[in-house]
Amino acid sequence: MSKPHADVIVLGLGGMGAAIANHLTSRGMSVVGIDRYQPGHRFGSSHGKTRIIREAYFEAPEYVPLVRRAYQLWRELENDTGQKLLNIHGLLTVGGENSELVNGVLKSSEMYGIACETLDNAEIRRRFPGAVPSDDMHGVFEPTGGLLNPEQCIEAHLSLARACGAVIRDGERVVRWRGDESAVEVKTDQDTYHASHLVVAAGPWTSELLADLNLPLERWRVFYAHYDSVKRDLFTPDAFPISLWDTPTGAYYTIPYLPGQGMKVGRHDAGDVVDPDTMKRTVDVAELRSQTQTIDRYMPGSTGRVLEAETCIYTVTPDHHFIIDRHPEHANVSYACGFSGHGYKFATVIGEVMADLVEHGRSEHPIGFLSADRFTNN
Ligand SMILES: Cc1cc2nc3c(=O)[nH]c(=O)nc-3n(C[C@H](O)[C@H](O)[C@H](O)COP(=O)(O)OP(=O)(O)OC[C@H]3O[C@@H](n4cnc5c(N)ncnc54)[C@H](O)[C@@H]3O)c2cc1C
Repeated sequence: MSKPHADVIVLGLGGMGAAIANHLTSRGMSVVGIDRYQPGHRFGSSHGKTRIIREAYFEAPEYVPLVRRAYQLWRELENDTGQKLLNIHGLLTVGGENSELVNGVLKSSEMYGIACETLDNAEIRRRFPGAVPSDDMHGVFEPTGGLLNPEQCIEAHLSLARACGAVIRDGERVVRWRGDESAVEVKTDQDTYHASHLVVAAGPWTSELLADLNLPLERWRVFYAHYDSVKRDLFTPDAFPISLWDTPTGAYYTIPYLPGQGMKVGRHDAGDVVDPDTMKRTVDVAELRSQTQTIDRYMPGSTGRVLEAETCIYTVTPDHHFIIDRHPEHANVSYACGFSGHGYKFATVIGEVMADLVEHGRSEHPIGFLSADRFTNN
C-alpha cells in the first residue's frame, strides 16, 4: 500500500470517535477523523443535550472501574478546555422489590463501597415531593449521578484533537476499507486515505462497516420528549434529581426541568428494530402517550405540553454489554460498538482504551468482559 496519510484513521466522530481522536492526538499520533455528517448531528446516538453518568452501575459491577476513570477524564477534559461539562445533580433509582435496576445499583455500590442511600417508600416521598412511587416501590439515591451534554463534549474533544493537528473530514461517507498487517486504506465518497491503523467507531452503522465480523448488533429506534412541566417547581434540579423508574410498563429515565429544555423523559428498555438509513425520524403524539401516562403516574405534573420530541438509536448487543476488540484478521484495526443505550458516560475512558489498543495492542483497563469472543466461544 502507498505511504500513510496518518498514523490512525478514526471512522466515525460521534461520542466515541471524538474522544478516541482526542486521546490518540494527545499521545502524539497523527489522526484523520472521518464522519458522514457534521459532528453533533441528530442521525446517530450522541445527540439530545443530556446524557446521564452514574457510578453504581446496575448493568454489571465490572463497569465500575471504567466509569470511575471516565469521571476523572471528564474532569480533565473540563480542565483542558476550560469548560463546564459535567453537572452533578444526584440520581434516584426506583422500582419494586425485584427490580433489576434497584438491586443492580445496590450490588455495585456494596461491591465498590459507593456512597448510596437506600430509601423506603415514605422517605422517597419526603425527600422528593414530586415523587409518588406505588406502595411496593423503594429506591436508592446516588449523590454523584450527573449529566453531560453530548454535543458540547464532542466539540470539546474535537477542538483538542484539532489543536494537536487532527484532520477532521466531516460530510464524507466511508464506503469501504481494506487492510494488511501494516496499513489500511479507507475509501470515502470523496477521497482515499491511508494510515497505519484504523479505529472503527461507527455507532449504528458498524454492522455495515465490519460486515465480515457478523457482529450481533440490533439497531433500536428510541425516542424521548421534552415537556413543559405543569408543576415545574417540583422538578427543577434543586427539587428533584435525575431519576430511573423501573415500572410494570417499562424502564424510564427522567432529566430534571432545565432552562430552555423543559423536563426530558425517555424509555430505556424497548425500541423498534430498524435500519438507520431508512428509519422514521419523526415522533407521533400517539407514540408518546404511554411514556407520558407512566411518568405522570409516578411524577404527577412533571409532564405537560411537549416542547420537543426526537428519535435516537441504541445499538444493542444480546447481553446489552459493549463490544471492544481488535479485528481478528487485522491487528491494526480495532473497534468499539454495541453501546446498548448506556455508553456515552464512558466516552472518555473508551478514548483512552482505544488509544491503548492502537499504541500497545492491549489496554490495562479491565475490558476483557467486553471482548467479541463472548459471542463466538459459547
Ligand atoms: C435517547 C438516548 C439516550 C441515551 N442516554 C444515555 C445516557 O443517559 N447515558 C449514557 O451513558 N448513554 C446514553 N445513551 C447511549 C449513548 O448515547 C451511546 O452509547 C453513544 O452515544 C454511542 O456513541 P457512538 O460514538 O458509538 O455512536 P454515534 O454517536 O452514533 O457515532 C457514530 C458516528 O459514526 C459515523 N459514521 C457511521 N458510518 C459512517 C460512514 N460510513 N462514514 C463516515 N462516518 C460514519 C456517524 O455519522 C456517527 O457520527 C443514550 C442513547 C440514546 C439514543
